[in-house]
Amino acid sequence: IKNEMKIEFMSKSQNEAFARIVIAAFVSQLDPTIEELADIKTAVSEAVTNSIIHGYEGKNGYIKMIARLLDDDTVEIEVIDEGKGIEDVAQARKPLFTTKPELERSGMGFTIMETFMDSLDVYSELGKGTKVVMTK
Ligand code: ATP
Ligand code: MG
Repeated sequence: IKNEMKIEFMSKSQNEAFARIVIAAFVSQLDPTIEELADIKTAVSEAVTNSIIHGYEGKNGYIKMIARLLDDDTVEIEVIDEGKGIEDVAQARKPLFTTKPELERSGMGFTIMETFMDSLDVYSELGKGTKVVMTK
């Protein structure tokens, strides 16, 4: 491991932008292309939005973000909440699946994370919370 950072912030929608800026600053030491940077920021913002909207459902909670710069110059990012959890992760990951169609969600968040990053793992337990691990 070459570097690591951990931050924690409240589940407020203004912290989506905060998380994007923090991850961009951290990965800049890798000299990413504009496109790689945009992909990582988008993926992080999808994961953080999910924790705010689905995990805590608008209530106050804390979201943890951990980023690691690995020896092979890839970055590993974890977004962790202690919200309501996901009943069926395989189903939640399917394109267009959403439990909040009334909020105009399109069910594409996990698909975007999967497409823009090189790997995506989702660990979740009902009533305990969710951890999303992505690498690029
Ligand atoms: P979009 O991201 O396109 O606005 P969406 O958030 O519903 O819509 P995904 O991000 O793909 O779509 O998530 C799919 C579903 O997985 C959500 O509708 C929700 O039920 C569940 N989910 C995702 N992240 C979490 C989380 N952190 N906590 C609880 N449930 C989650
Ligand atoms: Mg989403």
